[in-house]
Amino acid sequence: MKFHFQKTEPFPGVTVAEWMDWRWQFKSALSTLADFAQHFDLSASEREALSQPSRFPIRSTPYYAALASRTVATDPIRQMVLPRAEELNTGRGQQISDPLGERAHSPLERVIHRYPDRVLFLITDQCSLYCRYCLRKHFTGQDQAFVGSSDYEKALEYIRGGRGIREVILSGGDPLTLGDSRLERVLSDLRAIEHVEIIRIASRMPVVAPMRVTDELCALFKRYKPVYFMTHFNHPRELSFEAAECLERLVDHGVPVFNQMVLLNGINNHVAVVQALSRRLLFLRVKPYYMFQCDPSEGSEHFRTSVEESLEIQRQLWGRLSGLAMPNFSLDIPGGGGKVGLTPNFETARADSQREYRGFDGVHGVYRAPAGPSVLPADLSDYLGEWEELAGQRYGR
Ligand SMILES: *Cc1c(COP(=O)(O)O)cnc(C)c1O
Ligand code: SF4
Repeated sequence: MKFHFQKTEPFPGVTVAEWMDWRWQFKSALSTLADFAQHFDLSASEREALSQPSRFPIRSTPYYAALASRTVATDPIRQMVLPRAEELNTGRGQQISDPLGERAHSPLERVIHRYPDRVLFLITDQCSLYCRYCLRKHFTGQDQAFVGSSDYEKALEYIRGGRGIREVILSGGDPLTLGDSRLERVLSDLRAIEHVEIIRIASRMPVVAPMRVTDELCALFKRYKPVYFMTHFNHPRELSFEAAECLERLVDHGVPVFNQMVLLNGINNHVAVVQALSRRLLFLRVKPYYMFQCDPSEGSEHFRTSVEESLEIQRQLWGRLSGLAMPNFSLDIPGGGGKVGLTPNFETARADSQREYRGFDGVHGVYRAPAGPSVLPADLSDYLGEWEELAGQRYGR
C-alpha cells in the first residue's frame, strides 16, 4: 500500500517560492484574532480565547494553518493550534503550571537533569507554533529567546563536569527556530566534550515548518553525528507532501528520526488514528518512539484522556501493528517522578512455577519457569563498572 501525502495550498496571493521559504513562514506567522479571522470561520469559543490577553502565547506558521480546516472548529489539526474558551478555564481539575516538576530537577538555568545519563538543554524558549496542550507552558514563549551567554557557558560547564552524562537533548522551545550558525556552535561545543556520546534534537519543525529542515541543516547534523532527531507528529494529516520530503531529507543524510506523539481528546484518541499515523511514519523511515499520556499542564484539561482509554488503544494495537511501528506508551508521573512505561495486561494467572497469558487475539498459553538455576554471564565484570556508575543515583535538588 502506497500512501498519498498531499501538498499544502499556499495562501491566496503567496507564491510557491515564498511558501517554501522558512524565513517567509516565520515572519508571516499568524498570532492575532485578525490574523486568524482572515483564514478561518472562527467559532464563538475561538473568538473568545483569541480576544483575551492570553496567558499562553499563540502563534502558527501559515503552512500549519493551511493543514487545518477553514470551517470545522472540531477539526483535529485546528484544535491543536487555535485556542478555545476551555483553555482559559485553568482552575478546573488537576492542572499544574510545571506538571513534570522540571524546576525542581533544574540544577541551573536551562538544564533539566532528571535521569543519570542524559540531560535536557533548553537552548531557546521560542516555537514557530505554540501547541495548545504544551507541557512546558511555564517556560515557552516568554521571549527569552536563545540562552544568554553566561547561562550558556554555565550549562556547558555543567555538562563537561558531569561525567555520567552521555546524552544531551537539545530542546526548548524549538531549537530549530535558531539559525544554522547558532546551532552549529552548540553542536560543536557539545561534540568537544569527550563523554557526550549522543546529541538529540527535539523539534516540531518537520510538523509546523518542514521547509526549515534544509539540505544544509541535514548536512550539519551529519557532521556532528551521532545526532538523533526527535519529532512530534500527532495526527496522520500532519504528514503532508512537504513533511514527507523533510523526513526523507533527514533520513537520507543518515539522521535517525523518531516520533513522540501525545494522546489528545477528540484529536487522535482512537486506535485507527494512531495506527494510520504510525504506519505512515514507518513508511517514511521514522520510528514511532513514544505515545504519551497528556500532561495536566494549565489550560490543557479538555485535551486529556483517561489512562484506561490509552491502555485500550495500546492493547488493540498490540499484535496488529508491526512491532517496528509500535510506540511505547508512557506517562510522566505528575510532580517529577519521571516517565513510566505502561503496558496492557496480557497475564491471566501467575504462580511461582509458571505464568499464563492471553495474546492479542485471545489465544491462551503458559510459560513455565526454567528447571535450572540462574547463571551469570562469565564476562559480566567487563560491564559492571559502567552500570554501577549509574545505578541507584538520584538526580535533582
Ligand atoms: C523524557 C525525558 C528525557 C528523555 O527520556 P528518554 O526516555 O530517554 O527519551 C530526558 N530528560 C527528561 C527530563 C525527560 O522528561
Ligand atoms: S513545539 Fe513543543 S515546546 Fe513548543 S509549544 Fe509545542 S509542545 Fe510546547
